[in-house]
Amino acid sequence: MSTPLHGHGRRMLLTGAASLAAFCLTGRSLAEAITYTRRTSPAPPATSKGAYERLMEGNKRWVTNTLQHPDRDPTRRELLATSQRPYGAVLSCIDSRVPPELVFDTGLGDLFVMRSGGVTVAPVITASVAYGPMISGTPLIIVLGHQRCGAISAAYNACVMTSRCRAVCTRSRRPCARLTN
Ligand SMILES: [Zn+2]
Repeated sequence: MSTPLHGHGRRMLLTGAASLAAFCLTGRSLAEAITYTRRTSPAPPATSKGAYERLMEGNKRWVTNTLQHPDRDPTRRELLATSQRPYGAVLSCIDSRVPPELVFDTGLGDLFVMRSGGVTVAPVITASVAYGPMISGTPLIIVLGHQRCGAISAAYNACVMTSRCRAVCTRSRRPCARLTN
């Protein structure tokens, strides 16, 4: 599965580089070169269904250890310097074991990524999630949970401790006074 796609990726790179060189030679702007080059690359999914399928394909590569690490080269950086149209917005935990770009095997310019401990939602998070769909037409928003979340465990334990403290307080104020002083 990875070999033909690798070949395709290499062709994309060569095509992109050739297109960019051609536009530079003819004096046309980099923005025009970007538009032209993108037309020759696999288009980013325009629908939520297509975007979801693209991400699931990448996740399958993650699961089967056949990662491609696509579109992370200097050419891609150059092409994205003046514009971006990510096809997915991902809200995930800060956990070091589930970086969305790796979990979905995506490249530069593919995803808007927001991360917070335990996928905790606050106004600044929801506003950031809305940025992609509102500004760039990003068709898909994903909230990515994961197993054995340390942030959730810490929050749960804090709740349990608080409950225990309350239980102690109902019997005697002294232990609680020790805790709060
Ligand atoms: Zn987590």
